[in-house]
Amino acid sequence: MIRISLPWLVCVYLLVFLGAIFIAWIAYEMVRKFRESRSLRHRLNCTICGMEYEDRTKTLLPRCPHCGSLNERFQLRVY
Ligand SMILES: [Zn+2]
Repeated sequence: MIRISLPWLVCVYLLVFLGAIFIAWIAYEMVRKFRESRSLRHRLNCTICGMEYEDRTKTLLPRCPHCGSLNERFQLRVY
């Protein structure tokens, strides 16, 4: 049997509890960022007129439905 004093027992319990909360927090943030990037994958912002539109085709330079200019695929970021 392992002999351990009460202050050490409380300390170990707190460390395990805080470690579990930290791991859950990191996992929640990773899932949130993955969902956010997946929802913004097909969103494009026109560099000429500034219109934000959605394009699900595989073309390299999708055409803006508002002004007709060709746009590169940049990743939209939300801060
Ligand atoms: Zn445009």
